[in-house]
Order: sequence, then structure tokens, then C-alpha cells
Amino acid sequence: MRIADIRATSVTVPLQAPLRHANGCHWGRFIRTIIEVETDNGLIGLGEMGGGGESAEAVFRAMKTYLVGHDPARLEEMRFLIANPTASLYNNRTQILAALEFACLDILGQAWGVPVCEILGGRLRDRVPFATYCFFRYPNPRTGAGEVRTIDQMIETTRAQKREFGFTTHKLKGGVFHPDYELEVYRAMAAAFPGNALRFDPNAVWSTEQAIRFGQAIEGLRNDYLEDPVLGLNGMRRTREMVRVPLATNTVVVNFEQLAANVLDTAVDVILVDTTFWGGIRACVKAAGVCETFQLGVAVHSSGELGVQLATMLHLGAVLPNLSFAADAHYHHLTGDIIQGGLMRYEGGAIRVPDGPGLGVKLDRDKMGEYSELYRRLGNYPYDQDPGRPGWTPIVPNDRWADPADDRAVKIPF
Ligand SMILES: [Mg+2]
Repeated sequence: MRIADIRATSVTVPLQAPLRHANGCHWGRFIRTIIEVETDNGLIGLGEMGGGGESAEAVFRAMKTYLVGHDPARLEEMRFLIANPTASLYNNRTQILAALEFACLDILGQAWGVPVCEILGGRLRDRVPFATYCFFRYPNPRTGAGEVRTIDQMIETTRAQKREFGFTTHKLKGGVFHPDYELEVYRAMAAAFPGNALRFDPNAVWSTEQAIRFGQAIEGLRNDYLEDPVLGLNGMRRTREMVRVPLATNTVVVNFEQLAANVLDTAVDVILVDTTFWGGIRACVKAAGVCETFQLGVAVHSSGELGVQLATMLHLGAVLPNLSFAADAHYHHLTGDIIQGGLMRYEGGAIRVPDGPGLGVKLDRDKMGEYSELYRRLGNYPYDQDPGRPGWTPIVPNDRWADPADDRAVKIPF
């Protein structure tokens, strides 16, 4: 079996409302590039890649010259073929490798008649639990609905999502407003959802001293962990010395070199593995094995996903013995999906691991057409800019906070 063709299609799927984060905003939509790797015996494997509000079609077209004729089972060779560690100094293709690895695993599962998780060691669980991903949100520019800015809006939106999807863990995405205001919101969430687990993530925009202040202030709450309060292993280590809450990261431990550094001089307690950032599902399984050896915690990170990427997270979550936290997903903020059957369903805060061969998801061609047309019409968006604050540039550590009293609507094309 050989790779015969690689196709890439960028799609835009609307979100319920624009999602605000420390570095900017998802402008009411996700742009994802869907990869189809076709073999000479007619199998089609699926991959997916995100990016900062941009298409990645061109880079996948360029990979055809490397991979046509390649055996999709030779995954380790593919790693060195397109993401050689020293060549990567010039062309970092870690995320591209990830999307191609997803597609090749999908092909192998179909060829061998087994789900991807059975290739990865076999499932330990049939369902992967997820957390509510609680964002500050601008109102939907079309309907005016869905704003999350005040404490009451945050609690009511979370309550509605908990009712609909069954979540018992809630992750608050901060770094948007002054940390004192976000601390108020977090405390109100803890009071509103007693018995539920909480986690907070300001995307590494605080000073170390601010991280310590916030961390100490939440010590009595039911925290899973405090995620990336500050940028850099040294700031995390200084914070960890002063705060009795586990620290987590998806930012400063995203490869094996950094994981080794963290083992030798621990700065982070919980490693959030991301099938894209680490360069594939298999790299995440390997990283989780290192974490198991050194008794570090593991959770599954979300860098934004449609159904193909979500399937990679489910197969990963199914096989990790040391997955001791609910996974993150942006998925419940989407209004649709490109896979057959539409959006995967949550049951009791969890999603079933697909049973079909390979990743277990297939493209809905009508939806692909609809959402690729939407991509052509709306184009890219600057993920690292805030549509409500033109010209704003966040710094690290940041002190250029948004104003929680500012309720002006934002203009975003849709
Ligand atoms: Mg994070």
C-alpha cells in the first residue's frame, strides 16, 4: 500500500459566539484545514490542522512530493522524512506531521479493520470525559446572543452547558481582564458549582508575582490545576514553590526536550498533551509514558477541533492509563461539523470513542462544500488580534487588560 495523493481543503465553521483569549479572539469561527490522504488501493485517511485563523492548504500540497509512493505504515520514517529535528530549524513541520500521521493511522485502521486506539495499545475506556470550556465571549455579531463578560453571564452560560452536556469539570479561560476581576469570576464559579472540579488558564500572560498572588488566593478551592499562569519553566518553578495548587502547561512543555528538562528540575505537575502540538497521537502516547514513569499528571489539550481532530483526542484519551483529568475541547462551542452524522454527542459530560475502523469518522461532502464555501467568502482572521480593540498588542507580562464594563458590540464579518 502506497500513498497516491494528498488533498487539503480549508473550511470555516461558525462558533456560537466569538471566543476571547489572552492574545486576541476567535472571531466567531474556526478555520481548519482538512487533509485527505489517498492510497493506491483506494483508502482515504483523514487529518486536520488548525492554525492562527489561516488556511494551511498550500503546505500540504507541498508535502505531496515527499510522500507520494511512501508506505503509510512507516510512520517513524515519515517523521524524519518531513520533520527531521535539525532540518526543522528552517521549516518546523511538527503540526503538519501531526495531520499526516492522523491520516496514515486512519488508513492503517481501515486496512487492518481496527479502530486507531487498538493500534495504539488498545482502549482502556470507551468514553472520554470532557470539561466545560468557559470563555469570555463577545455577543454573536448576527444574533446579539451569547455574550459572556459579567459574572452572572459566565455562571448562566456554564450552567446551560452543564445541563445540556453533563459536564462536572469547568475550565475558565482567563487572561482577558485584570486578574483581580477574573479571580472574582473564578470564585463565583466555585460557589455556583460546589463539588465540581475547576481549572483556570490565563495563557501565560501574568508576571510570576501575579501568578503567585492568584495561585495562593485559590488554594482552598477544588482546583484540578492552575494552567500556564506564567510563561517559562523558571517562572512556573518559582510559582510552584509558593503555591499549593498543581500547575499545568500546554505551552512550555510541548516536546521531549522540554519534558526532560521538567523531569530533571520540575516546574510543572500536569502535562497537557495535544495531538497537534506534539506532532501526532503517537508522540502524545510516548510523552504520557514518560509522565507515567515520573509520576507527572496528564490531560488532553484542545487547540480547537472539528470532528477529525476530536477523533484523535478520543483515541488518545482511550489508551492513556494515566489520564486522570477530564479532557479539554472547544467542541461544544461549534454550531456544526464536517463529519457524517454532524456534531458528536456528549453523554454525561463524555464522548464515546468511535468504534469504526481507523479514526471512525467520515466526511460529510455536503457539509465540506458548505463550510469550504464559507471559508472562501469570509477568508482568514487574525487570531492574535481583538476585534473590539483595534491596534491593541498584548505584552508579556501583560497589563493591557480589557474592561469588563465595556459592553460595546464588535463588528465582525459573517
Ligand atoms: Mg492552555
